[in-house]
Amino acid sequence: MSSKTETLNLKYTYGPVASWRLGSSLGVDLLSGKEKICTYNCIYCQLGRKVIYTLERKNFVPVDRIIKEIESLPEINIDYITFSGRGEPTIASNLSETVRAIKNIRKEKIAILTNSSLMYREDVKKDLLSFDFVIAKLDATSHFLFEKINYPARKLSLEKIMQSLIDFRKEFHGKFALQIMFINLNKAQAQEIAEFARLVKPDEVQINTPLRPCPVPPLSREEIAKIKEYFTNLNAITVYESKIKKVTPISKKETMERRGKVI
Ligand code: SF4
Repeated sequence: MSSKTETLNLKYTYGPVASWRLGSSLGVDLLSGKEKICTYNCIYCQLGRKVIYTLERKNFVPVDRIIKEIESLPEINIDYITFSGRGEPTIASNLSETVRAIKNIRKEKIAILTNSSLMYREDVKKDLLSFDFVIAKLDATSHFLFEKINYPARKLSLEKIMQSLIDFRKEFHGKFALQIMFINLNKAQAQEIAEFARLVKPDEVQINTPLRPCPVPPLSREEIAKIKEYFTNLNAITVYESKIKKVTPISKKETMERRGKVI
């Protein structure tokens, strides 16, 4: 890598990084704060336990700054441009505006990793419809586990979130994946979650378990393979089966800050 790329000070992007269902990806962080800003505080979150909870959408980073930074990047070979980062990306109110601006200058498909918590809002749903690939998380179908695993901000309703996933799928014409993080706490709920996935009818189900360092141990290959059996006919793929592309991040430091301790 040239010295120019090594000294690039990335503020809003962190790529290319390898993502298990997105090949190599340029990450965009529309929150870009020092602290995690989220509607949840999941027990397996790689970003640590400190969180700024909010349900209020706000403009954190102006679109032109994102565009300027993307234009300043060296030539990169990527499969997707992916919105994620230090928190829940749908909290940013300039989401679809940024997607439109990126589509004017880049040819890659645009993806988002969302925790689904704000999908019930009309403005958020409208913004999500502008993506090519939406990966939406749901780790629990019971209140008890929702609270225990995701630590949602007060006022969030699991029923509303589940219904919004079903509704969004009907309207969205892009690729839609339902991602579930399985850990010890929710492994016994796999059958119920699979039944719910059948109602959503996603293009794929991503069965995940925390393989990157975090306070919660991952389930074993055997446990995940057993869980997968509940998801027959749902185009399910597990994190253990997925081939992760090898990529060299432009800035290791920025990537680690936004993605957790390992790339
Ligand atoms: S939704 Fe994502 S960023 Fe938010 S706490 Fe959970 S894992 Fe962390």
